[in-house]
Amino acid sequence: MSRSVLVTGGNRGIGLAIAQAFADAGDKVAITYRSGEPPEGFLAVRCDITDAEQVEQAYKEIEEKHGAVEVLIANAGVTRDQLLLRMTDEDFTSVLDTNLTGTFRVVKAAARKMLRARKGRIVLISSVVGLLGSAGQSNYAASKAGLVGFARSLARELGSRNITVNVVAPGFVDTDMTRVLNDEQREKIVGQIPLGRYAQTAEIASSVRFLASEEAAYITGAVIPVDGGLGMGH
Ligand code: NDP
Repeated sequence: MSRSVLVTGGNRGIGLAIAQAFADAGDKVAITYRSGEPPEGFLAVRCDITDAEQVEQAYKEIEEKHGAVEVLIANAGVTRDQLLLRMTDEDFTSVLDTNLTGTFRVVKAAARKMLRARKGRIVLISSVVGLLGSAGQSNYAASKAGLVGFARSLARELGSRNITVNVVAPGFVDTDMTRVLNDEQREKIVGQIPLGRYAQTAEIASSVRFLASEEAAYITGAVIPVDGGLGMGH
């Protein structure tokens, strides 16, 4: 059965791999993008998730063209790394506004229709650093840890309506976000990963797709690490 799927930040990186995985399985996939040319093969809606008005408009367009969103993957996220004493209010609040409050905005808009339909799947993309912590990323780690409390609260709130809410916590994945690291930093990180390598984006996408599938109907409030063992024990 073809479902209406929305992947925020589905225009590149992990989000694009997730969007592709759902499209390959025959779902109707909408993605958000902020600028430039979005990839082909999806319903691309221009939307900055820090802007409530744009989120509302995006849902309107998707609902008109694909019907109400049945599967939401809240993937859009940013980093603005800085050590604490150099971190400005703006560094902190802008990362929280995208990663946590932005996710709240898109989830709320999807949940309204899911509640009415009495079914739905929501997957939030967190990060291994939300659980492990990461020097220089206190804003990012706080936002990603916040997603866990957010998801688990919603799992309790929405469970009786057959809506599952889960979190995928990737480790290091080869995308634009991690390409800013230099060779020395990369080597250090890889040395700490039991599987000894970065993840491919498709390896994150397959777990996301599983959580959105019928086979995962009894999984909610879970945090699934897809991190090559980097964060195990949390
Ligand atoms: P990229 O930097 O490659 O892509 C980020 C995506 O988020 C882009 O599509 C971008 O859109 C979108 N985005 C950012 N801000 C906004 C906004 N305000 N409104 C709408 N869309 C926005 O990152 P990745 O693919 O690597 O990361 C995807 C998710 O996975 C993020 O949440 C990230 O934190 C998480 N993650 C990544 C890891 C990694 O190692 N790469 C590890 C763990 C988690 P645009 O093109 O318009 O900028």
